[in-house]
Amino acid sequence: MKVMKFGGTSVGSPKRMQEVTKLITTDGEPKLVVLSAMSGTTNTLVEIADYLYKKNPEGANTVINSLEQKYLGHVQELYSTDEWRERTEAFIKEVFANLRAMTKSLFTSFEEKVILAQGEILSTNMVTNYMREQGINAILLSALDIIRTDKNAEPDFNYIRERAVQQLEVNEGFDVYITQGFICRNAYGEIDNLLRGGSDYTACLLGAAIEAEEIQIWTDIDGMHNNDPRIVEGTEPVRQLYFEEAAELAYFGAKILHPTCIQPAKFAGVPVRLLNTMDPQAPGTIINNRMHRGTIKAVAAKSGITCIGIQSSRMLLASGFLRKVFEIFETNKTSIDMIATSEVGVSVTIDNTSHLSQIVDELKKYGTVSVDSDMCIVCVVGDLSSKNVGFETIATDALKQIPVRMISYGGSAHNISFVVAEADKQRTLRALQQTLFTYNDHVRRPS
Ligand code: ASP
Ligand code: MG
Repeated sequence: MKVMKFGGTSVGSPKRMQEVTKLITTDGEPKLVVLSAMSGTTNTLVEIADYLYKKNPEGANTVINSLEQKYLGHVQELYSTDEWRERTEAFIKEVFANLRAMTKSLFTSFEEKVILAQGEILSTNMVTNYMREQGINAILLSALDIIRTDKNAEPDFNYIRERAVQQLEVNEGFDVYITQGFICRNAYGEIDNLLRGGSDYTACLLGAAIEAEEIQIWTDIDGMHNNDPRIVEGTEPVRQLYFEEAAELAYFGAKILHPTCIQPAKFAGVPVRLLNTMDPQAPGTIINNRMHRGTIKAVAAKSGITCIGIQSSRMLLASGFLRKVFEIFETNKTSIDMIATSEVGVSVTIDNTSHLSQIVDELKKYGTVSVDSDMCIVCVVGDLSSKNVGFETIATDALKQIPVRMISYGGSAHNISFVVAEADKQRTLRALQQTLFTYNDHVRRPS
């Protein structure tokens, strides 16, 4: 069975819901379908929660009422029979009545998660009902009965596998199984979620759990590009990526995929295919266990980076110095993205600066501290194993005109990363595009 996940824009209007239905059912094979909320809905739900945190039920109700009107309008457009219009309308009214009820009582993070869950609950009900109206043998499985996180807020994979397999068995014989992305229960049985963009994660967890033939992530772009199309001209979709390469790209900027979602698919060996709902025939990007030797695949950039340097003559030959430095970041709940060390100093990057002044204060005990903000990490992904002689040089050579603050190479065999000033991001990405993705003797163009 294939798992198909459709993002917010892919189900963003009644028309798109109808098109997605066609896509799911054209080949007549059974599918497990994961849906996001209609685009914009989760943001609106966040806004409602925000009003309630600020003890402004009036503000919340205004937003709730206008969102309800929007959904009731969608119902008129989506269905062609009164029966399914009425059934769906009744469901939508119930959802919004519950939301209104929540504006009257105590508001905590528990209620917030319940509110955030409604977007996916609405979209999956609407599409399932539409399919039924069309005579498609579809069933809605609640993700709240399948996806659970553990006490560390990580997906409880054994539980998910057991429940997913069992739910499909108990409901055998349907052509389309629909479920909600993003939402789950936590270790205490409360409604929770897999964080923003988490529907991709749901799809990959379910694909791994049922050992799907393939996990398809349908968005509104034609796969992962070899560079940022908003900044660089002439970028192209990358046809194939190794799991690790895709994980690096997702983390370092290519917004198309949730960064941690690839992990379960990789472990289960289930390929992930990125496809475009606006152009379903386009080949997209396949992410699998095959590593293409001798190819640089793509470049991605992550902005909002701060570099912290610690220079210390005491670091020379001192064991335990790095541990002390890292501990300061750990106790301040700040994770480090990149590091570069020399015998007399170390530089690290962070993207969360909420504890920066505390960190800098504590680091000053160990050396002279410098902070560079407004930096970005540019990462080059592909076969960058040390055996592949000369490939890192091609990347560094491309940047010979650009001031580079840090370089990290050798952490994995798939990546070389540079830290440059945000102001130099555009010319860095363009220079790399020029050098890496033009035919020459050193770099094979990714196939
Ligand atoms: N609806 C959620 C969000 O907007 C999850 C998702 O779409 O992946 O973040
Ligand atoms: Mg997404």
